[in-house]
Amino acid sequence: MKSLTPLQLEHFLAHLAERYELRVPILLPDGTRTIGSPDDGPLALLGGAVPGKPTAAFFPQQETIFTAIHGRLSQAPPPPKPLFILGFTATDLECLRFIDRFFADGIRDDLYFRLRQGAVVAGISGYCGAKGTLLPPAAGNCDLELFLAGDTWLVIPYSGTGTELAKELPNAATPEEAELFKCSIPTVPDGGETLLQAASALLCADRVPDSFWEELGERCIACTGCNLACPTCTCFGVQDWRSSTGVERSRTWDSCQLDGFMREASGHNPLGSEALRSRRRIHHKLAADPRKWGEISCFRCGRCDAACPTGIGMMAVAADLVARFG
Ligand code: SF4
Ligand code: SF4
Repeated sequence: MKSLTPLQLEHFLAHLAERYELRVPILLPDGTRTIGSPDDGPLALLGGAVPGKPTAAFFPQQETIFTAIHGRLSQAPPPPKPLFILGFTATDLECLRFIDRFFADGIRDDLYFRLRQGAVVAGISGYCGAKGTLLPPAAGNCDLELFLAGDTWLVIPYSGTGTELAKELPNAATPEEAELFKCSIPTVPDGGETLLQAASALLCADRVPDSFWEELGERCIACTGCNLACPTCTCFGVQDWRSSTGVERSRTWDSCQLDGFMREASGHNPLGSEALRSRRRIHHKLAADPRKWGEISCFRCGRCDAACPTGIGMMAVAADLVARFG
C-alpha cells in the first residue's frame, strides 16, 4: 500500500495520461460531477459517487456499430491508448463486475470489450463521500483503489497492472493508515442489501398482487431517468441512419419504462401498460436476474431513487414491498 499527497496524486495522474486515455471525476460547468476527460473540467474527487451512470465509460449512451459508405463496411477502431478510469465506488464496481459478465455471456459484445479490454479501473473510497462521509472500500473488483484518509490518498493495488502502477510510487503507507483502511472494510451486509433480499424473496414467491404494479404504474411518468442512471441497465435499441453516401448503424440506450420498449412489428406489446413495465423494471433485477445469474442485479447505488421524480426508485419500491407484503 502506498500513500500520496493530493499534489502527488495529480502528478501520478498526469504521468498515467502518457500511457492511458484518462477518465476521472471532473466538475462540469453546470456544477455537476461526472467521470470524464481531465481536458473537460477540473478534477473533482470529493463528493461521493458521480450522479450519472459510471458504466457509460464502457457502454456509452450512443455509439456507432458500423458504417457502410459507398458499400465499404467499417467499424470504429479501438482507442489509441487503453482507458484508465478512476471514480467507481464499491457499489459501482459491483455493477461493473455484473455487466462484465452480462456482455461476455453467449455472443461476446465486441463494442463493449473494444473499450473494456485492457482498461485499468481504479476505485475511489475513504472520507471523500458527500460532506466528507466515508465511502466504504471496495477491497477488490478493480485494478487499484484510492482511499482518502485525512489529507492523504492511500493507493491499494489488487491486479497485476495495479501492482505495477503502485510500484512506481515512492511513499509506503504508515501502519496507522493501513489499519484505518482495513477497519473501514464492511464486514456485514448493509441494511439495503437485506431489504433487497427480502423484496426479492417476495417477488420470487409471487406474493405481490397485480394491484401493487397498477399503483406503481400510475406513478410512473416514463421520464426514463431510472434506467438512464442505472449502472446495470444494459438494454439498447439499434438504428440505421441513411445519408447520400451510405448508412451508419448505431445503438442507443433504451428504457423498459417506454411504451415502445417491447412493442412488436405486429403491434402486439407484451409490456403494454405502465403497470407491466413498472413490474418488469423491478422484477428483472430482483427476480429474473437472480434466476439467470445467481445474484440480484441491483447493487444499491441509489441513482434511480435520486433520479425518479415520483419517488419510485428501486430502494423506495423495495421498502414499500417489504412493508406491505413482508
Ligand atoms: S439502486 Fe437503482 S440505479 Fe442503482 S443499481 Fe439499483 S436499480 Fe440500478
Ligand atoms: S424515473 Fe421514475 S417516473 Fe421516471 S421512468 Fe423511472 S420509475 Fe418512471
